[in-house]
Amino acid sequence: MTTAPTTSTTPSASGVLGSITPALLAWLATRVTAAGHDTVTTLAPYTLEPLATLPVSSPKVVTEAFLTAREAQRAWAARPARDRAAVLLRFHDLVLDRQDAALDLMQAENGKPRRDAFLEITDIAATARYYARMGPSLLKPRRRSGTIPGLTRTRELHHPKGVIAVISPWNYPLSMAAGDTIAALMAGNAVVQKPDTQTALTALWAHELLAEAGLPAGVWQLVVGSGSSIGPALMAGADYVMFTGSTATGRSIARDAGERLIGASLELGGKNPMLVLADADLDQAVEGAIRACFPSAGQLCVSIERLYVHDSLYDEFTTRFAARTRELTLGAGFDYGYDVGSLTNPAQLSTVTAHVDDAVATGATVLAGGRARPDLGPLFYEPTILTGVTSDAVCYRAETFGPLVSVYPYSTDEEAIALANDTEYGLNASVWTTSPRHGRQVAAQIHAGTVNINEAFAAAWGSLDAPMGGMGDSGLGRRHGADGLLKYTEAQTIAHQRLHPIAPARGMDHDTFAKAITTGLRLLKRTRLR
Ligand code: NAD
Repeated sequence: MTTAPTTSTTPSASGVLGSITPALLAWLATRVTAAGHDTVTTLAPYTLEPLATLPVSSPKVVTEAFLTAREAQRAWAARPARDRAAVLLRFHDLVLDRQDAALDLMQAENGKPRRDAFLEITDIAATARYYARMGPSLLKPRRRSGTIPGLTRTRELHHPKGVIAVISPWNYPLSMAAGDTIAALMAGNAVVQKPDTQTALTALWAHELLAEAGLPAGVWQLVVGSGSSIGPALMAGADYVMFTGSTATGRSIARDAGERLIGASLELGGKNPMLVLADADLDQAVEGAIRACFPSAGQLCVSIERLYVHDSLYDEFTTRFAARTRELTLGAGFDYGYDVGSLTNPAQLSTVTAHVDDAVATGATVLAGGRARPDLGPLFYEPTILTGVTSDAVCYRAETFGPLVSVYPYSTDEEAIALANDTEYGLNASVWTTSPRHGRQVAAQIHAGTVNINEAFAAAWGSLDAPMGGMGDSGLGRRHGADGLLKYTEAQTIAHQRLHPIAPARGMDHDTFAKAITTGLRLLKRTRLR
């Protein structure tokens, strides 16, 4: 491994890099593990100036990356799980120690404010620690009850799948690049990963840190390129695919995985609801709504885009929520000063603008925001609240993936639950109440993979011991918890039959055997042995 150029303490000449130097960017670009001859230049969202030029991986080099990864995986899987866990624990420390460079990189590539980038640092450190601590015991062979008590000794083993393709989006550059990869590596797999090109530098930074923490060369391959160009090579080489991105791409990944009969975990889009129940604390709910709707300028899969408020609180809530939203500070800065940053690419700005304009044209009212802010940067858009959105508006059902929320009144819990569930998606939801029991009752009836009570999304996302993922069009499979690790393994059952076969004893006819087994089954039920 070559040494990374250091960061600078003064902002770069272009003002889009924080403490990151052009030399560090150029060096990171050389760390793409499977580089082709072509290059691609990314733009910095804060200014749309060129940010970095990266080598693009051809389908051929992606195929070669799988060969390298497959070779490296054997030795990695042969190491005791505790050794693999130790690498993750060292990575945990390095991420915390070197966070400044990562924060700058995430902001430079994605345009988000520093406070949202910091959440990714905590997420990745906690995920590394969680799987390092839990992995060895989750992966241990387990005794299972066998066919005949006392005679059948059964054990469940978990073998790594082999080489996992991880395909990730640009919205949470570090969380999405490293979170799922950590679990796949802990389970003894190698990974060939395609981050979104826009945020590949952050992925490369994490890759370098994991190498420094002791991950052997070849085990984690990073490739760069568009889905249309190298997607087929990724799908052809993988033993399992972990995809995070849009529902449309997820469907096509699922089709390809089905054709090859490999497993796929799909973390897709959402149109997440928040319910402010009649007994909610208004102060907490207003602050919660701010945290729910506008992190990373709403470019967060679990952020809230539909807000249902009980009639009795609606006027007060909307007035206060709009006032707080107007107070949010927007800007480009490599410190913790701003509440809201920039959108990441021009397509995002077009979608947000189109959704707001369309909603207004079909009868909606803008309570806060509602306009782009080119004075701050080419991709800034104000946090926006709409009321009176009709079912004719595109944003009534479609995911905006931007700083846009529609607020609706309701009168009964049943109505709020029906409105929350009136969606093809089912990723995340948020419920606000002063009664834990009331909150749990409502939460259990919402069709979503995670429901937070008195928090927006961080309570469920951060509960790393519990599964996280989508229902309906929001996906298939789960990350986090035991599911998030064991999905990267093949379960194998080894059953050892002792002393007596599962067949009539020598000389016993089948009639007697059937009667003996029937009696045995009745006995098992009566004695509660099984
Ligand atoms: P996208 O589907 O366009 O792209 C995601 C990734 O897939 C990128 O790396 C892209 O290059 C790659 N890709 C695209 N087509 C491909 C193909 N045919 N084969 C292989 N790879 C391909 O999604 P996006 O617009 O970049 O991301 C935003 C979406 O992601 C939103 O819908 C958001 O809700 C969703 N998302 C979901 C989660 C979650 O955990 N559920 C997290 C983050 C983002």
